[in-house]
Amino acid sequence: MSAVPGSPAVTVLAGPTSVGKSTLSRFIRTHYPEVHFSVSATTRPPRPSEVDGVDYHFIEPARFDELVAQGAFLEWATVHGTHRYGTLRSTVDAALAAGKLVLLEIDLQGARQVRATMPEAQFVFLAPPSWEDLVSRLVGRGTESEEEQQRRLETAKIELAAEQEFDVSIINDELDRAAAELVARMGFTHASPQSEGQLPK
Ligand code: 5GP
Repeated sequence: MSAVPGSPAVTVLAGPTSVGKSTLSRFIRTHYPEVHFSVSATTRPPRPSEVDGVDYHFIEPARFDELVAQGAFLEWATVHGTHRYGTLRSTVDAALAAGKLVLLEIDLQGARQVRATMPEAQFVFLAPPSWEDLVSRLVGRGTESEEEQQRRLETAKIELAAEQEFDVSIINDELDRAAAELVARMGFTHASPQSEGQLPK
C-alpha cells in the first residue's frame, strides 16, 4: 500500500463517545500497519483489556503536569470533565520525519487545537448511524458507570453539533468499510494485504 504524493501528513479522527473510534483505530493498526497511529498519554486508569504503551501511555497526573509544563504536548484536553489526554509532540514529529502518515484519534477540543497549530492536517469526523445506535453502544459496552455514561452523552451532544467543522464525515456503520474509507481518505491507494482484491471504498 502506498500513499498518493501530497496526501495530508496528519489526519485527525474525532467523533462522539462510543462511536467506535478506538475500535476503528485498533482495526487500522492491525490491518493497515503502514498508518502510523499516535499513542496518546492519559491520566485515566487502564481498562482490563488495555495495554500500557499500546492503547495509551498511562501516566500519573503529576507526570502529565510536567509534560504540559515542558510543552511536550501537541495538544491536550480534559475529556468528559475527568481525565486528561494528550498527544506527544515527539512521537508525531518522529513519525513525520520518517515520512509516515500519522493518524491522531482525539476529542473535539484536541482537534480544535490541532486545527489552530496545524491547519494543513485533515480533519475527519466519525459519526454514528443514529443517536439511538450511539446510546446503545455506550450502554452495551458497560465500561462506564451510569453517572459517567450520562456525562459522556452530554459531551456527545456537543461533539455531534461540531460535525460541520470537519473536512469529512465517515459513518461508522460497518467497521471494515469505515476503516477502508478512512485509509483511502488518508491517501493510501491500495488495499492492505489482509484485504487484497478489495479496493478501499
Ligand atoms: P477513552 O477514555 O474512551 O479511551 O477516551 C475518551 C476520549 O478521549 C475519546 O473521545 C478519545 O478520542 C479522547 N482522546 C484520546 N486520546 C486523546 C488525546 O491524545 N487528546 C485528546 N484531546 N483527546 C484524546
